[in-house]
Amino acid sequence: MRNLRIGIVGAGTGGLAAAAFLARDGHEVHLLERFAEARPVGAGLLLQPTGLACLAQLGLDARARSLGAVIHDLEGRTVGGRRVLAMDYRRLQPHLFGLGIHRGSLFALLHDEVARLGVPITTGVEAVRVEPHARQRTVVIDKLGRHHGPYDFVMDASGMRSPLRRTLGGRIRDRQFKYGAIWAALPITDGWPHRATLMQRYDGAPVMIGVLPIGRLPEDPTPRCAFFWSVRVDQREAWMAAGLDAWKTRVATLWPAIAPILDGVRASGDLSFVSYADVVVEQPYCPDLSLAVIGDGAHGTSPQLGQGANLALMDAMTLAGALSREDTIEAALGEYQAARRRHVAFYQLASRWLTPFFQSDSRVLGLVRDATFGLASMVPFAEGQMLRTLAGIKTGPFSELDPGDWSERYATRSRRLTTLPASSSS
Ligand SMILES: Cc1cc2nc3c(=O)[nH]c(=O)nc-3n(C[C@H](O)[C@H](O)[C@H](O)COP(=O)(O)OP(=O)(O)OC[C@H]3O[C@@H](n4cnc5c(N)ncnc54)[C@H](O)[C@@H]3O)c2cc1C
Repeated sequence: MRNLRIGIVGAGTGGLAAAAFLARDGHEVHLLERFAEARPVGAGLLLQPTGLACLAQLGLDARARSLGAVIHDLEGRTVGGRRVLAMDYRRLQPHLFGLGIHRGSLFALLHDEVARLGVPITTGVEAVRVEPHARQRTVVIDKLGRHHGPYDFVMDASGMRSPLRRTLGGRIRDRQFKYGAIWAALPITDGWPHRATLMQRYDGAPVMIGVLPIGRLPEDPTPRCAFFWSVRVDQREAWMAAGLDAWKTRVATLWPAIAPILDGVRASGDLSFVSYADVVVEQPYCPDLSLAVIGDGAHGTSPQLGQGANLALMDAMTLAGALSREDTIEAALGEYQAARRRHVAFYQLASRWLTPFFQSDSRVLGLVRDATFGLASMVPFAEGQMLRTLAGIKTGPFSELDPGDWSERYATRSRRLTTLPASSSS
């Protein structure tokens, strides 16, 4: 199909990427965003080879690479120094890497591309529902009762707390995880040697500290890292009441090497709290309403496996491709679900299963993790499966994405990328 009029709700990772893919295919796209100004929320994230393949498809990978930090490996240890996780992308394929990126940088490169393609973004629109309109079209209705559209197709990319997914019918699971996280994007201090490693420290399952290099913001050359600290959702107030200095002293006692980075936290306003939910929808689309949900709205997970933004990018690329290839919206929706179902289901299950080992009250799960994960990664088969899971390519216990869906695009571009100087842009 060509020249569809498409409304996208939410100008986050998935919505902006979908807008770029669809506008390139010649559709008339309109983004609706609840914030008064479209902006990123949160500190930074890890793009996997799958997400990077989507950016490569949009021609944005070189700019992403120039802003982000190449991540070769992940190292997790207990606060006592015992190795729990050691995963190096290069052991899967020599050219593979992850990319730590500031959310502001990912947002800027997608937003600039959408602006370049002439996609209008209407801000201050908090969508609450969709309704059918004449001639199989759909309108989006916002909190103030205003109607937007009509559209031939509506894509809901409004994230974890999507108000539109209830329109889908079918069973919907939406369970808040017990733990959330405190996040900040802090300057990386000169003495921090782990410039290409996601470092984590654990004390049982209740304590997890992480440092992920995320490169720089477009307007600011300071190299930064995303710092995170687990907090139980119901203890957030108590955490705040205990005071910043006491907390900084505790973190630095658990992980002394991190103290200089923590000095970057001057006030509690430098930190943000996020919670997350386990979201499963039975069918991520409704043909009668010409509506589909992508990203966290369809499959929210905990960030433990670092996949959410990558899944949203894959959804955006797949659904945009299906809409352009198929002759009817119904056929495109069927193709979208068939293509994404197993990949998404694997990561939902893996995230639900693994999160309690890293973020829960259970001392036992922490002990089991410390005793077994390190050993498992020494067994070549188990290491291969763990790396495939990290890289974002698994679709089942013994299956993975077709390399044509990610590797070929990614490999072709990333080989070229390795020859680019760090400051270049596309
Ligand atoms: C602490 C933390 C760390 C993470 N780390 C990683 C990581 O390392 N790697 C990774 O891949 N993922 C990570 N994630 C997950 C990732 O951030 C999300 O999966 C991803 O942003 C989902 O993209 P999305 O487009 O579905 O939603 P979002 O990026 O959340 O975008 C939703 C957009 O919709 C807008 N919106 C919401 N409601 C409405 C409405 N009613 N009307 C109009 N607009 C609306 C919002 O303002 C927002 O702009 C992490 C998440 C958290 C919380």
